[in-house]
Amino acid sequence: MEMDWLSERQLAGPVLDALTASICVVDHSGVIVAVNEAWRHFSKDNGGKDAFLGENYLDACRRATGEGADAAHCFGQNVEDVLSGRCERFETEYPCHSPDKRRWFLARVTKLRTGEAASTNDATRVAVISHQEITTRKLLECDLKKLAETDELTGLKNRRKFLASADILLEQLKREGVPASMFIIDLDHFKSINDTHGHAAGDDALRHVAEQFDRAIRRSDVLARIGGEEFAVLLPNTDEWGAIMVAERVRASVADSIVDTRVGKLNLTASIGVTTFWKDDRSPDAALGRADAALYLAKDGGRNRVRTSTRGLWSPVAG
Ligand code: GH3
Ligand code: MG
Ligand code: MG
Repeated sequence: MEMDWLSERQLAGPVLDALTASICVVDHSGVIVAVNEAWRHFSKDNGGKDAFLGENYLDACRRATGEGADAAHCFGQNVEDVLSGRCERFETEYPCHSPDKRRWFLARVTKLRTGEAASTNDATRVAVISHQEITTRKLLECDLKKLAETDELTGLKNRRKFLASADILLEQLKREGVPASMFIIDLDHFKSINDTHGHAAGDDALRHVAEQFDRAIRRSDVLARIGGEEFAVLLPNTDEWGAIMVAERVRASVADSIVDTRVGKLNLTASIGVTTFWKDDRSPDAALGRADAALYLAKDGGRNRVRTSTRGLWSPVAG
C-alpha cells in the first residue's frame, strides 16, 4: 500500500497507543515530552511511581527510595548515558513486585533519531524509554529452573543443584578460607525393602526419610537426593567436627523413627560418610569421592553409623 509522509505521521500516535509496551520520550534534560496510552495507565496503576508527562524522569529515578531504589538510580544513570551519547541503547530485566502480585518488566532505552533533530544539538539528545511486562515468561523460567533443580520423588534438591551449590562452597573456601563440609547418606539394605514390600512402599519410605533428614539438618544446610536411595548434605561454614554432629543427628533421626508406608510400618537405618572440603580439591567430585570412601567404611563397619574420611573410626554406635 502506498502511504505518504503525512499519513505516516498521522498514524504514529495511534500506533504507539496500540502497543502494549509503556513508552515515553524524554528530552535532553530528562523531561518526559511524549507518552503513549499504556504509559499513562502504567503510571496511574503504579500509584504515580513512574513519572507523568512533563515530569523529569531522571529526577524521579534519583528520588526513588525503598525497595528497588538502587535499581532505579542505576536505570536513571543508564538513561543519562544514552542521552549523552555514551551508549546507543540499553536494556535490562527487572522485578517490580507488589504484596499480592509478582511482576517483571523489560526496560529499554534507545537514542531517538529524527529528521529535524540533526539541526540542533540538544534536540539530538532525545531517548525513547519503554517498559514491557514479561511476567509470563519470567514465571515460566522460574518454574523451569525449579524443575531442573528438584528431585521429583521427594521434592528435595537434585544432584545437579547439589553439585552447583558445592561448587560455590569450594570457591568460597579457596577465596576466603571459609570452611565447608559434606556428607553422603545411604539407606541400609534398601533393596530388601523393595523386594519384600514392593517398589511403591520403597518410594513411601524414601519420602518419609527425606522429611526426617530435613528436620534433622540446619536451615543453612543443603539437602539433596543424589541417587536412588542416596542423599547428601552440604554444610556451609562447618568444619568436620560440626558436620559429624549433624550427621549423627540425621542417622539417629532414621534409626529412631518408624517409617509409615502403604503396606505398614517399617524400620530403617542409614550409613553416613563425612568429609570436609579441601583447598586443593579441584572440584566437588574430589570431596564426594572422600565422602563415598567414608561411607564404605560405615557400611563395612556394620551399617547404621557415621564415618569420616579423616577420623575413620568415629562411631557413636557400639560395634
Ligand atoms: P546397602 O546397605 O549396602 O546400601 O544395601 P542396599 O540394598 O541399600 O544397596 P543396593 O545399592 O544394593 O540397593 C539400592 C536399592 O535401592 C536398589 C533399588 O531397588 C533401590 N532403589 C533405588 N532407587 C529407588 C527408587 O527411586 N525407588 C525405590 N523404591 N527404590 C529404589
Ligand atoms: Mg546405594
Ligand atoms: Mg543402600
